[in-house]
Amino acid sequence: MTEPHPDTQAAAEAGAACPADLAGHKRPTQAEAEAAVRTLLLWAGDDPDREGLVDTPKRVAKSYRELFVGYGTDPVQLLQRSFEEVAGYDEMVVLRDIRLESHCEHHMVPIIGRAHVGYLPRGRVVGISKLARVVDAFAKRLQIQEKLTAQIANAINDVLDPVGVAVVLEAAHQCMTTRGVHKHGVTMVTSTMLGAFRDDHATRREFLSIINGRSGTFEG
Ligand SMILES: [Zn+2]
Repeated sequence: MTEPHPDTQAAAEAGAACPADLAGHKRPTQAEAEAAVRTLLLWAGDDPDREGLVDTPKRVAKSYRELFVGYGTDPVQLLQRSFEEVAGYDEMVVLRDIRLESHCEHHMVPIIGRAHVGYLPRGRVVGISKLARVVDAFAKRLQIQEKLTAQIANAINDVLDPVGVAVVLEAAHQCMTTRGVHKHGVTMVTSTMLGAFRDDHATRREFLSIINGRSGTFEG
């Protein structure tokens, strides 16, 4: 079990309150972003004016809008529409095998894996698609896996005030599998357990057995 990074709570709160915090920096124009991509093409050793690359800066700038759409998404707002009429349902809710696509903040290459999110409601539940969207809201940013794990758990904990929250992420980091030490097939597993999932062994065991009772694999 990975201890959350000390900055995580603050980062999660800051991220939730102000998703597009540039710390005073000015957001570049599309033309400036394209020029930066052109520089990187040259740096990689290719001719940015050759036919195949001529539109690449434009495509990359556009794809960055999708890959990093999380900066414009407020996870708190996503979770705020919850349902209180749950007919006394107070058992564990688990969404497992959520596709996880993020980018490592050290190398800006993909982190691909899956997320498992569980909580024990205290009267309030959210639509399950919201849990997947909260994962995306934090994942579609530059991340380290430890921080991402804690941010997801803290956001659910803060907004739903459940009896407990559990988040487990398993992911392959392309900065490790395709460069650097080239360790293919290695996955990193991180978890944040809050409330009953941290304090009560039976609750934690039930969650872990639910998420382990699957057979699928993912391609990193
Ligand atoms: Zn990396």
